[in-house]
Amino acid sequence: MDVYMDNNATTALRKEALDAMMPYYTDIYGNASSKFYRVGRDAEQALYKMRESVAKSINAPNVNEIYFTGSGCEADNWAVKGAAMANRKKGNHIITTKIEHHAILNTCEYLEKHGFEVTYLDVDEYGFVTPEQVEAAIKDTTILITIMTANNEIGTIEPIKEIAEVAKKHKVIFHTDAVQAIGHMKIDVKELGVDMLSLSAHKFHGPKGVGMLYIRNGIRVDNLIHGGGQERGKRAATENLAGIAGMAKALEIAVENIDKNTEHCKKMRDRLIKGIRENIPYCRLNGPEDEGRMCNNVNFSFQYVEGESILMMLDMNGIAASSGSACASGSLDPSHVLIAIGLPHEIAHGSLRLSVSEDTTEEEVDYVIETLPPIIQRLRDMSPLYEGVEK
Ligand SMILES: *Cc1c(COP(=O)(O)O)cnc(C)c1O
Repeated sequence: MDVYMDNNATTALRKEALDAMMPYYTDIYGNASSKFYRVGRDAEQALYKMRESVAKSINAPNVNEIYFTGSGCEADNWAVKGAAMANRKKGNHIITTKIEHHAILNTCEYLEKHGFEVTYLDVDEYGFVTPEQVEAAIKDTTILITIMTANNEIGTIEPIKEIAEVAKKHKVIFHTDAVQAIGHMKIDVKELGVDMLSLSAHKFHGPKGVGMLYIRNGIRVDNLIHGGGQERGKRAATENLAGIAGMAKALEIAVENIDKNTEHCKKMRDRLIKGIRENIPYCRLNGPEDEGRMCNNVNFSFQYVEGESILMMLDMNGIAASSGSACASGSLDPSHVLIAIGLPHEIAHGSLRLSVSEDTTEEEVDYVIETLPPIIQRLRDMSPLYEGVEK
């Protein structure tokens, strides 16, 4: 049985999204900037429709607040560097958290090398940051707050609306990385009150290599890629029409089915959590118990075993999962998120992330629940640390 449980890393492309992409590889191949002939104008009109569709999906008041990018990382980099550079005269202080994606953290570190000051807020044992913490960190020089909507490793959903209110009160720009949240909870930029929001198509069954940055009108952000006039001159490059078409379609479907999908994911998630707890001793659920947890994320630490060894043995049984975040694997450092919620290194090392999707079935969940306990037991039997515990 082949079971894919790494939907926080990427998702399978939806058939409808692929179908929506195909015409832009075949018939409508024009450059959207070429207005003097039909195939160019057709591309331009199609692009406008896609922008309109994406704006509608996240309830952006204006179509021109949607800027297409080449990925979620790009959208995050742009939001942080662009806002920092454009507002430099006002101040040099940025607030974020210790559990952001590396697209945010490494960008902040880069800015620190260039004269900016960054506050990395602590989170509690479940991964939550509070609006009060954010408010206490604001100084006269604060120009940007960037805090993720939902964490990609442990599934914590942050109080974004309340943080946005704090930011607004102090007239500080607020960006949120909503890459993991989209498709798993309702995202309405107007209701959330955010100034900027990033998303990435491949996390909600769209194609890889395409993302979006929402920039509320009036927010000053430096241009990202200098060149032609695409994306209102802010992000030059001939548009990836097929990719954008796939993203717009996948987003439409995700938004339309949000209630049904979150309910299904939650059911699969809770079945996994229950099954693992009942069958494996010395385990710890990382992230919130239920309230405030993303509907599709499961993250456990198993004492006395290594995450990498669990992944290898799961793979031998046809199960795809992850230990920490995919971007960080290949490094021996334990996940910065697990360290931030207070796990000791040796326990952070034995962590496993299982992330489901609307396509995950009960049979697949039960197969994982059957397969995982003997794997953990076998690894523990080989561990000298476990020997003493058993006795
Ligand atoms: C996946 C992810 C990104 C990066 O998106 P890409 O399109 O893969 O560059 C950024 N932030 C979070 C929270 C993510 O999960």
